Amino acid sequence: MRIIIFGPPGAGKGTQAKLISDEYNIPHLSTGEIFRSAIKNETPLGKEVKSILDTGDLVPDEKVVGLVEEELKKEKYEDGYVLDGFPRTVPQAKAFDKILKEKNKSLDAFLQLQVPEEELIDRILSRGEGRSDDTPEKIKNRLNVYWEETQPVLNYYQEQDVVRKVEGVGSIEEIFRRIKKALED
Ligand code: AMP
Repeated sequence: MRIIIFGPPGAGKGTQAKLISDEYNIPHLSTGEIFRSAIKNETPLGKEVKSILDTGDLVPDEKVVGLVEEELKKEKYEDGYVLDGFPRTVPQAKAFDKILKEKNKSLDAFLQLQVPEEELIDRILSRGEGRSDDTPEKIKNRLNVYWEETQPVLNYYQEQDVVRKVEGVGSIEEIFRRIKKALED
């Protein structure tokens, strides 16, 4: 199964992607986690993207697409994966479509986690992950970037008829039950 989990910062994408990964035995690919780990390990990629993640802006499309394309060549992704945090712009979505087509594969589901805007900031502040981009100012920037650059990705997939809306409010288990239902319906 090839799945995209989509939603604004604070919607719970990472948490739910991990559960999907365990349940369906498919790897979880989080571009944000790749960047954070590169920064932590002070790799060349980490040095390149650190200041971008620090402000909450987006890493340039070519960089992210190249990285995902390389990563997806690994054998572990052959039978499926859950993408978390990618694609985040329409050009990324188009590039991902091209990658899929070249491999003769298709997307099974685009899960849209829906959470009321007013809940997002509180959730991010209370999750206490200690991320350097989890401060009120940076969260505001990440949400602005989301509305401007990432939200249009939803319209792009709506045209492909793969979008499944999932209410992202409630306990982690409740939300996960809705996700399973959406995937199995
Ligand atoms: P996330 O963990 O998905 O919230 O991502 C954390 C940060 O990594 C974002 O605020 C961006 O700076 C960067 N990032 C992650 N994924 C992408 C992507 N697909 N395109 C551009 N930047 C990204």
